[in-house]
Amino acid sequence: MKNSWKCNQCGYILQQNIPPAKCPSCQKDCTFIDVSCYTPDCGGPGSGNIDPQLIKKEPER
Ligand SMILES: [Zn+2]
Repeated sequence: MKNSWKCNQCGYILQQNIPPAKCPSCQKDCTFIDVSCYTPDCGGPGSGNIDPQLIKKEPER
C-alpha cells in the first residue's frame, strides 16, 4: 500500500511507501505531509487516493 505525501514547501504530491528526504520537485529538505485517504469518503485506506480535505490546507511556514 502506498501513501500519498505532499511537500510542505511547494505542494508537490507523490505516492510511495515512505516520503523522500528531498523533494524531487523543489529539491529542498522539506517535510512531507501524509495526505493519504483514511476515510470512506475518498475511497478508504488502501485505495491509493488522496484525501481532498488534507490537500486544501495551506502549507505551514
Ligand atoms: Zn517540494
